[in-house]
Amino acid sequence: MTQDNTLDMALLKEAAALIKQKGNILVFTGAGISVESGVPPFRGPDGLWESHDPSFIELGRFTREPEVCWPIVKELFFDAILEAAPNPAHAAIVELEKAGLVRAVVTQNIDGLHQAAGSQNVLEFHGTTETLHCMKCSAVFERKYADLDAPLPTCGACGGVLKPDFVFFSEPIPEDVAQASFDAAEASSLALVIGTMGEVLPAAHVPLAAKRVGKPIIEVNTIPSTYTNDYTDIFLQGKAGEVLPALVREVVGG
Ligand SMILES: [Zn+2]
Repeated sequence: MTQDNTLDMALLKEAAALIKQKGNILVFTGAGISVESGVPPFRGPDGLWESHDPSFIELGRFTREPEVCWPIVKELFFDAILEAAPNPAHAAIVELEKAGLVRAVVTQNIDGLHQAAGSQNVLEFHGTTETLHCMKCSAVFERKYADLDAPLPTCGACGGVLKPDFVFFSEPIPEDVAQASFDAAEASSLALVIGTMGEVLPAAHVPLAAKRVGKPIIEVNTIPSTYTNDYTDIFLQGKAGEVLPALVREVVGG
C-alpha cells in the first residue's frame, strides 16, 4: 500500500491486468466518487453531518413536521445535486461498461451521476432524488414535475406531502434493490470499490458478499477504509477522478 498520494503505477498495472482477466465487475461506489462533482459527502470531517442536524431526514421527524424539514432537505439534497455533473471517474466506469466488463454498478449515492454519465445498469442502494412520492396516496412524481421551491411540495391529486425517494434515517432499504445488489455481488468475478469508507450498513456488506465467495476486491480511495486491511486485494490510493481514468486507460487502451 502506498502512503503518499502518488499513484503507484505497478499496482495500477496489476489492477488493470486483474480487471482484464476477470471482467464481470461489481462496481460499488460511495460519496467519494461524487465529491469531485461538487456533491458534499455526509460523513467525515467536511461532511454535512458535521454542520447540519441529521434529524431533518429522520423519517419520523419528516412525517411529524415536514414543513420544518423540507427547506433543509431541499438545500442539502437537491440544490447541490441539481448543479452537479459527472466527473472523469463516472465517465471511466462507463468506459468499462462499454468494454463489456461491468456486471452492475451498485451506488450508495442518490445524485444520479452514474446514469447522467451513461451507465446502464445502476442499482441505487439508498434510493434516488429523481422521484418523490405522496405520503398519503403513494402517487409517484418525477422531480421535474414537483415544485421543489414550494414551502412544502404536495401531491396534485390529494394534497398529501411529497417525500423524496431516497432512504431516510430509520427507513428500510428497498428490498428489491438490496437483493439485486447482493445477487450481483455474488455473481460478479471482481469487486471494484470506489470512494466509500464502508461505514454505512447494510450497504457496506455488498462488496463483502463478493469477497465471501472468493472474489478479489480492488479499492480506490483517498485514505484507507474499513475494507483496506482486511478485505482489499489491491488498494489504489488517490482521487477517484484521477485513479479511475488512469486505470481504465490501462485496461481498455493497453
Ligand atoms: Zn397524493
